[in-house]
Amino acid sequence: MGASVAYHLARHGVTDVVRLEREKMLGTGSTGRNAGGVRHQFSNEANIRLSIESIRLLERFADEVGHPIDFHQDGYLFLLSSPAAVETFRRNVDLQRRLGVDVQWLDAAGARRLAPGLDAAGVMAATFCARDGIADPNGVTMGFAKAAQSAGVVIERDAEVTGIRASGGRVCAVETSRGTVETRTVVNAAGPWAGVIGRMVGADGVNVPVRPVRRHIFIAAMDGGQPAATVPSSHIMVIDFETTFYFHREGGGVLFGMGDPSETSTFDTTVQWDFLPQVIDVAVKRLPALESASISHAWAGLYEMTPDGNPIIGPAGIEGFYTVAGFSGHGFQHSPAAGRILADIVAGHDPHFDLSPFALDRFNASRVGGERYVI
Ligand SMILES: Cc1cc2nc3c(=O)[nH]c(=O)nc-3n(C[C@H](O)[C@H](O)[C@H](O)COP(=O)(O)OP(=O)(O)OC[C@H]3O[C@@H](n4cnc5c(N)ncnc54)[C@H](O)[C@@H]3O)c2cc1C
Repeated sequence: MGASVAYHLARHGVTDVVRLEREKMLGTGSTGRNAGGVRHQFSNEANIRLSIESIRLLERFADEVGHPIDFHQDGYLFLLSSPAAVETFRRNVDLQRRLGVDVQWLDAAGARRLAPGLDAAGVMAATFCARDGIADPNGVTMGFAKAAQSAGVVIERDAEVTGIRASGGRVCAVETSRGTVETRTVVNAAGPWAGVIGRMVGADGVNVPVRPVRRHIFIAAMDGGQPAATVPSSHIMVIDFETTFYFHREGGGVLFGMGDPSETSTFDTTVQWDFLPQVIDVAVKRLPALESASISHAWAGLYEMTPDGNPIIGPAGIEGFYTVAGFSGHGFQHSPAAGRILADIVAGHDPHFDLSPFALDRFNASRVGGERYVI
């Protein structure tokens, strides 16, 4: 998010920008730990609009941003096994189509044809969007960062934000482990740490309701003799909506994961190996080839959850302070559009986007809405 905002500010000619990063490298937070999934298939109109714009930019990334990225548009396949899920998806596919997204309905046999090796037992229906896919988080982050840097933006690594000073009702400086930056504008793009940054603002802090929640990814090494028909050869992302189990091909193996409903809020990213048997129980039912696979490695990262699963984009609590965070597990893919929108606002341009579903004050106004496809 920070790299995208910096890039889009530079496109407006705003280059008096410092991107502060606590770590020695960019992209080691949630962005460096995600599954790379990019989809149009959301339940919330504003998220679908973010996807349409973001995927358009990802498709033209090398031409527009000037750096090549790895992007496979082999589609997202959602498997639905209950009447309630089918009903929800009916409404949402209608919405997606109204917005111009080409989403298909499939039966179990159609799903199996797209994802060889899939066991579609109990699948009542499936949806598929061919322009969804898998992109490379490091390439996108570094592409935005390098383009911003060549336009004059400064990137300070190893520079931890420790405080944000305010005076006369607006921000005036950021304190870091490497000194103070005087500024009238601060963008909080700290992902799962956005709430911590909010609490640093002025004497009272700003309540940015973003909660870190640990999520795991496992990589299964398939043995070289694995027949092609037991695992999809494309990068299609398959999601079992009821269980949230998902997988896609990753190199010679398979990347997979699943939400853990018992996980509580934490910044701890230690892998919980005792969660693996629960995932495997579900996984082998959908992709039987995993039964004979070995797990080559695993990692955990942080989802940045808001109370309604939608992000916070825009002004946040005190003049000059903005937030672009809380993407609740789908922020990598929305970084192109979200960064563009935030940069427009900071640069004083109309973002041409209805930000009310993403406004910080929605949590006080108890507006209904939110995202239902948090996987
Ligand atoms: C297992 C997993 C799978 C996921 N899969 C997907 C997916 O398939 N598709 C998708 O779109 N999204 C996915 N996500 C979500 C996605 O990774 C996040 O939404 C996205 O990376 C958020 O980006 P960000 O820039 O807001 O946060 P981050 O990438 O976390 O960046 C925040 C940065 O702020 C820095 N920082 C924090 N505190 C300070 C401080 N005090 N001073 C200076 N710097 C600070 C951090 O070091 C970090 O670099 C997944 C996440 C996980 C954990």
